[in-house]
Amino acid sequence: MHIAEEVQKRKTFAIISHPDAGKTTLTEKLLLQGNLIRSAGTVKGKKSGKFATSDWMEIEKQRGISVTSSVMNFPYKDYKVNILDTPGHEDFSEDTYRTLTAVDSVVMIIDATKGIEAQTIKLFKVCKMRGIPIFTFINKMDREGREPLALLEQIEEVLDIETYPMNWPVGMGKRFLGIFDRHQKQFVKFNGNEAESYIPYDELQQAEHQDLVQNATFQETEEELELLDEAGDNFSLESVLRGDQTPVFFGSALAPFGVQTFFDTFIDMAPNPNPRKTTEGLVQPEKEEFSGFIFKIQANMNPSHRDRVAFLRVCSGKFERGMSVHLARTGKTIKLSQTQQFVASSRDTVEEAYPGDIIGIYDPNAYRIGDTLIEGKEKFAYDELPQFPPELFKRVTAKNVMKSKQFKKGLEQLVQEGAIQLFTAYPMESYIIGAVGELQYQVFEHRMRNEYNVEIVLESIGERIPRWLDEEKVDTTLFDERNLLVKDREGAFLVLFKNDFALRWFQDKHKDMKLIDLFEVN
Ligand code: GDP
Repeated sequence: MHIAEEVQKRKTFAIISHPDAGKTTLTEKLLLQGNLIRSAGTVKGKKSGKFATSDWMEIEKQRGISVTSSVMNFPYKDYKVNILDTPGHEDFSEDTYRTLTAVDSVVMIIDATKGIEAQTIKLFKVCKMRGIPIFTFINKMDREGREPLALLEQIEEVLDIETYPMNWPVGMGKRFLGIFDRHQKQFVKFNGNEAESYIPYDELQQAEHQDLVQNATFQETEEELELLDEAGDNFSLESVLRGDQTPVFFGSALAPFGVQTFFDTFIDMAPNPNPRKTTEGLVQPEKEEFSGFIFKIQANMNPSHRDRVAFLRVCSGKFERGMSVHLARTGKTIKLSQTQQFVASSRDTVEEAYPGDIIGIYDPNAYRIGDTLIEGKEKFAYDELPQFPPELFKRVTAKNVMKSKQFKKGLEQLVQEGAIQLFTAYPMESYIIGAVGELQYQVFEHRMRNEYNVEIVLESIGERIPRWLDEEKVDTTLFDERNLLVKDREGAFLVLFKNDFALRWFQDKHKDMKLIDLFEVN
């Protein structure tokens, strides 16, 4: 009973966007609404140093509140909100994808002046393949941007998801007057630097609002809205929760404008922690015994501190500090004692946590990404995390051939850990490593040097489009540098295409060959 109540309160989500769309600004405004920070102001979370910290660290420094780079939690109304960071810029890596396996919904921010951008597409694909509900916030309405209809069309076309505008903007940039909040049936008036105001639809005709309703832009938009009501898709929470429809909100994170209505509606609609798939069927979050899985392991870059933190998503039961659990992969019992820290709104050690919460546990090199921890005797494991298709590929060798033993050991372990993906060229065996972001190579190089004492040489073969083959034997003469044949760790063949053109050319010539996109199958 107690656990069920806690589950009902939890809302765990990530914000996805392309760099500069406004993720930091929106996050800060959400914190303001949660009353975690009192004064507003723009946080310029620009990075410094090689291993850039998250924008949230900047918020932390500037505001003196405790948020960490990875997970933030705060109370909002009756809810307990957990926001997981999905780093962009130079921090973008496979971990960013993996983080999305630990959330129950996602907020996608789109910059109205730019439309959909590259990083958003990648992150969106992961959400789509996991069936994660997506809520869209179209930002920067205080600037001249693209037409709202054109933006919705682009989302539907490029991302292949139905849209439902929860609100509809009146003008933009200097002509921006506000939004029709279709959900709450009110007009939200933009008052520049002043706070927004709310006018219920049935009060719009009152004398004091005549300036507004007589405005030509307002009247045009009213007509547009009528069309939308008649011809647009219907809202369906079921479709939203299946990930087939995205509610779209227009606003400005900076002003801030429309943030409150967006967040109130989002937080009510966003799903609570769901039952999750395991080897023994679905496990309900309300289940008495604690269980969870590890979705990310962060190694310390400081050579004198080799400790690592494993990020665990609680999926069922109640976590209590000091409890004994077993690791599904090995059956070993582990006591989760003093060393784990709650990666959340305070740096203190966490005493308890519930489904939807994320805890950081000290990793004495015992865990792997995807590991399940369970309290009690039951045996099951949460579904393995999918393999995400890398985009950047480099050939890797040891600088000193005498070090090939350490080289192989380090390579094997870091690949095992999920730091990087390993492929071998075929039939000429050479190591090729694949990554989602450049940061992974930096971490790899650094750890090979510091932990395995091996200098490596990386030779880029550029951005590639990987497609897996559904065959055990292939005619090697069909492949060359433009469509490079390699094997993954399981021995499956895949082709690294130089570009879209090479991919289409090949597919055209070999129509009977099935080329599999990992984003489509997981
Ligand atoms: P992030 O990289 O996604 O975290 O983006 P930031 O939150 O750092 O925002 C990038 C830039 O866009 C900053 O200069 C912000 O001040 C600006 N910005 C964010 N939201 C808005 C908005 O609603 N309107 C305008 N005009 N600028 C915004």
